[in-house]
Amino acid sequence: MNKRLVILGSGESGVGSAILAKQKGYDVFVSDKNFVNEKYKTQLIEHHIEFEEGQHTEAKIVNATEVIKSPGIPDKVELVVKLKEKNIPVISEIEFAGRYTSAKTICITGSNGKTTTTLLTYHILKNAGYNVGLAGNVGKSFAYQVATEHFDYYVLELSSFQLDGMFTFRADVAVLLNITPDHLDRYDYKFENYAASKFRILQNQTAANHFVYCADDKVISNYISSRTPVAKLIPFSIYQSIEGDGAFLNTNQLTLNYKPEQEPLIMTIEQLALQGKHNVYNSMAAAMASRIVDVRKESIRDSLQDFQGVEHRLEFVASINGIEFINDSKATNVNSAWYALESMQKSVVWICGGQDKGNDYNELIELVKAKVKAIVCLGKDNQKIINAFQGVIETIVETDTAADAVVSSYKLSKKGDVVLLSPACASFDLFQNYEDRGMQFKAAVRSL
Ligand code: ADP
Repeated sequence: MNKRLVILGSGESGVGSAILAKQKGYDVFVSDKNFVNEKYKTQLIEHHIEFEEGQHTEAKIVNATEVIKSPGIPDKVELVVKLKEKNIPVISEIEFAGRYTSAKTICITGSNGKTTTTLLTYHILKNAGYNVGLAGNVGKSFAYQVATEHFDYYVLELSSFQLDGMFTFRADVAVLLNITPDHLDRYDYKFENYAASKFRILQNQTAANHFVYCADDKVISNYISSRTPVAKLIPFSIYQSIEGDGAFLNTNQLTLNYKPEQEPLIMTIEQLALQGKHNVYNSMAAAMASRIVDVRKESIRDSLQDFQGVEHRLEFVASINGIEFINDSKATNVNSAWYALESMQKSVVWICGGQDKGNDYNELIELVKAKVKAIVCLGKDNQKIINAFQGVIETIVETDTAADAVVSSYKLSKKGDVVLLSPACASFDLFQNYEDRGMQFKAAVRSL
């Protein structure tokens, strides 16, 4: 009998996995508790894949030899607990698809900067003429591309939820940008559990592989000094110079060393297309990952300079009567909002708030004191933000639509100020997702 593969969740990764599994001869069944989006329904029907929606029929699931779970489904849901009790392996799409490709993988994770660094690395490889695919949390699923394309390289963005379902997968080049609190609701509110999930990026690596990491991140550097990963270590840093292979900053000059016998790649941070301290990190990480797979230095330099940026990440929207509007809707945790505020050169009217993820706003107090003139809350329940910044910022107003937030911010600002949407919170209280929040913000700015 064929192996039975059950897929929970019919989103991009679930349907991609189903198509790949069907191609590889599995008996495939897709189950989604919600409705299956029309586009995916058509694909499942076209590929003659059995599926159900609006329910999980247990009898059709617990007979699986293996289950692929969408990263959006928490481990704690009853069905998943039951599968684990029955010793049925529950894996992620990346683990599954990884079995069917021999392409070299550059895998990027971290609490913040994953999408930016993934797209930048892909841009560098693509510009250099590499036969490269882009997958993970961005674009078409890895599994679908493994089923339909023949890439030599993949740049993969990996979230902690995907890493949790990975066991035998090996990253040829692993990139770890930073580890700061996020998604703690899915990790028993224990930071160490979340951090452990990020370090899974290192599992199965050998001495022939590379680990590119931020040496300024205490959580990462402590882990490395106590555990010594077997892969070749490629650190990058803004604050310390790096001996041997790695990247560092000296005032405004970036130095990237790979293979000591070669000249380093040197450029200034003003030449980088992506500005802000966090983007210096992202640029160093992408450049080092690209050097490891032998992209030429000149080509890396050109690509770091002509990259177009990513929507909803410190995205310039418009300047209206001398007031600049910036959309950083993707800043869904405290650390990303910290970097956004840090990179602001003008007086800021800060739009923040939304669904709280166990945030600690104390980390922002100093920056807010130094840079923010008024706070506009954009959330259903803003009390935590009000409590945190009362007494620090005189003007704090509450709004519950993007349009109101924009109008209030506009009234509170004057020529030469910047209005920054960088919420430090998830968007689901008032919006479908962070893209929806960013789009509504941009539309409101444009209709001022
Ligand atoms: P992710 O995919 O990890 O969520 P993104 O590239 O989408 O990361 O960026 C998310 C948010 O974090 C944006 O607001 C962005 O400005 C900010 N950010 C980007 N890179 C970093 C970094 N290296 N450190 C901290 N914040 C960052």
